[in-house]
Amino acid sequence: MAVVPEECLDSIERIIANKKRILQRKEDLFSYAYDASFGIHCPDLVLQPISTEEVVSIVRLANQFKIPLYPRGRGTSLSGGPLPVHGGIVLDFSLWNDKLIVDPDDSVAIVSPGVLTADINAKANEFGFMYPPDPSSAHVSTIGGNLAENSGGPRGLKYGVTKDYVIGLEVVTPEGEVIRTGGRTIKNVTGYDLTKLIVGSEGTLGIITEATLKLIPKPAATKTALILFDDLVDSGRAISRVLSSGILPSKMEIMDQASIIAVENYKPLGLPTDVEAILLLELDGHPYSIEDEMEKVKSVCLSVGGREVIIAKSDEEASDLWQARKLVSPAIVRIKPTKISEDATVPRSKIPDMFKRLKQIKEKYNIHLVVFGHAGDGNLHPNIIADQRDKEEMKRVELAVEEIFKASIELGGTLSGEHGIGNMKSPFIEMELGKEGLDMMKRIKRAWDPNNILNPGKVFPEPGQKLVLSNG
Ligand SMILES: Cc1cc2nc3c(=O)[nH]c(=O)nc-3n(C[C@H](O)[C@H](O)[C@H](O)COP(=O)(O)OP(=O)(O)OC[C@H]3O[C@@H](n4cnc5c(N)ncnc54)[C@H](O)[C@@H]3O)c2cc1C
Repeated sequence: MAVVPEECLDSIERIIANKKRILQRKEDLFSYAYDASFGIHCPDLVLQPISTEEVVSIVRLANQFKIPLYPRGRGTSLSGGPLPVHGGIVLDFSLWNDKLIVDPDDSVAIVSPGVLTADINAKANEFGFMYPPDPSSAHVSTIGGNLAENSGGPRGLKYGVTKDYVIGLEVVTPEGEVIRTGGRTIKNVTGYDLTKLIVGSEGTLGIITEATLKLIPKPAATKTALILFDDLVDSGRAISRVLSSGILPSKMEIMDQASIIAVENYKPLGLPTDVEAILLLELDGHPYSIEDEMEKVKSVCLSVGGREVIIAKSDEEASDLWQARKLVSPAIVRIKPTKISEDATVPRSKIPDMFKRLKQIKEKYNIHLVVFGHAGDGNLHPNIIADQRDKEEMKRVELAVEEIFKASIELGGTLSGEHGIGNMKSPFIEMELGKEGLDMMKRIKRAWDPNNILNPGKVFPEPGQKLVLSNG
């Protein structure tokens, strides 16, 4: 474990004048040992920078003393992203939220790394715009974290993910230089696209200190439907059929029976618990056209085995329906305390096959598996609910997780649609990228970060690293 020498600490105290932003007490450090996954790794020091100058000086110092740096937003990562697996310093950016400027003439927002994602959309709405990326954690996660993870959300189906809305970045490199990538223009093909390289690099290639985000006009109206299915596989077929019928919903989310029951036990909303799956679908656009499209959605879903299509009559009814989807995560952790949240993603046409594979895995390993997620873009969230104290159960869970990864790769999919690799999925990354693909990424990392200062132990597997869930 890395330690921070006294000499280094003295310099830090000169860089960060306000001592309240230098955290050294054990109880403070321990609260940074967690994220929303379940590894526990305590840092040696936590700093809360609020300017590019502070970040530059800290990064240079870390290179001088060879101390690992771990950027952190709000710690909602589901893949261990901000955890200080090699000790060292956590850089907590949650206080750095002073800049949230909307420029309607250029249709952009300029933001500091610690701004909450939902606040960007809310501010854009005031000007008649929207910032489409909407991870379910948008009210509690930072734009810095979203950029580093290239986060997505329900609206990803129609509007894409974080990377599709970033046109410029200010980045502090792992050796402490400041670079600006892209700019304010929608088109820009000057040189390599470093913006896209940094977005999704999980804090391993640079520290994002400012972002310029593209905004788009807010649609005039939305309409929501709840569609009931007696057969899970039919719901998968309905997703493909709707999308190939010329309609592109803004959201298309799925909940299986286990997640419906969990939500009803947690907060009764009147969802039917005797169905195998429900789809929640939102259309957006002109009020007349979405009226028309909803009729088409209804007939397509009924033709592939849908039991019933319930259309929300008001915005209130629609938000009640979406509440069901939002409650899945808190509801399922009441079943058992440990939630292993995966985001295996497959091509849309393979959703029915993935459902079949998940059903087989559930039975084979006798695990409590709940499936929900952004079904429209093939991004399922198979969640395993277990108890970390039960070693025998966790062994079965490890095998099941590995098999879920294999299933998604075999079906032409990916290990992660949005949660990132972190240190949770790194043992499996070669399975998807191949040896040469992985090696090219390692070479990029070495070129950017020769001292391996920034977020070491993430994305790339450490020698002999395996998925271990049983000793947390
Ligand atoms: C209930 C719940 C629902 C969720 N729903 C979704 C969802 O719908 N879609 C989705 O994509 N994710 C989802 N997530 C996962 C998580 O919220 C996202 O990955 C989010 O982007 C993390 O943001 P954060 O501010 O918490 O960052 P952290 O978890 O603190 O860090 C995430 C990564 O970003 C890096 N990082 C943070 N700030 C910076 C910076 N300024 N510069 C460089 N690197 C940085 C960290 O090193 C780390 O690798 C969910 C999580 C929870 C708990």
